[in-house]
Amino acid sequence: MRTPLVAGNWKMNKTVAEARELVSKLNVPMREIANVEKVLCPPFTSLPALSAMLAGSDIGLGAQNMHWEEKGAFTGEIAPGMVKEFCRYVIIGHSERRAYFGEMDANVNRKLHAALKFDLIPIVCVGETLDQYESGLTSEVVRRQISLGLADTDPAFATRLVVAYEPVWAIGTGKASSGENANTVLAQIIRPALSDLFGMEIAQSIRILYGGSVTASNASEFFTQSEIDGALVGGASLKADEFIGITKAAAQ
Ligand code: PEP
Repeated sequence: MRTPLVAGNWKMNKTVAEARELVSKLNVPMREIANVEKVLCPPFTSLPALSAMLAGSDIGLGAQNMHWEEKGAFTGEIAPGMVKEFCRYVIIGHSERRAYFGEMDANVNRKLHAALKFDLIPIVCVGETLDQYESGLTSEVVRRQISLGLADTDPAFATRLVVAYEPVWAIGTGKASSGENANTVLAQIIRPALSDLFGMEIAQSIRILYGGSVTASNASEFFTQSEIDGALVGGASLKADEFIGITKAAAQ
């Protein structure tokens, strides 16, 4: 059995005061939702304050990115050990990092290894752009992102991995994939690619999330699919009612 996981990616939104306000609305209602792993990924600046607020809660914190090096002259970057001070999770290879900051599969792979070394749970994002989707390249692109991004991972650690399938055309557009289409990508492309790397038994234990315009009203369309183990949520994670609704849908 794979425990469902719902993660909110706040992106570059919310000051510390705003972050505290949102968490004060989420904290109690989210605690009451059982059998779902819940994760908030605020900007780095809010991690210390939210970590104090969430002490003793089952809501975990995640970083939206990190560097792979442990320390050094990397101005503006955050090291794995710094993330680990506040977080159990880290998002790696989000499509916005790939598109706007030139992040390549090789760097995704370095970050993944750093995350595992620091005992973080990596949420590795994969997904095709609209052009790639329309050109029938989904399988080729996603398989490559998995095989290069997750290369050389010790199978003993692979069960800790979380993969998020986020078709880029569905992110922030309000045009979610259908549940069935996303499930087909997971069943026919992602899980087989994981099986090629780690064998079927381990591949079956790895959680795969869907991300892309998930809301409280469409969430159950995804969570009722056999292969979808939760969601990575952007815009809707900034609204307490929406995120609580999505988390409740994952619990059912
Ligand atoms: C995301 O940024 O990972 C995401 C899925 O965004 P949205 O839910 O806004 O489409």
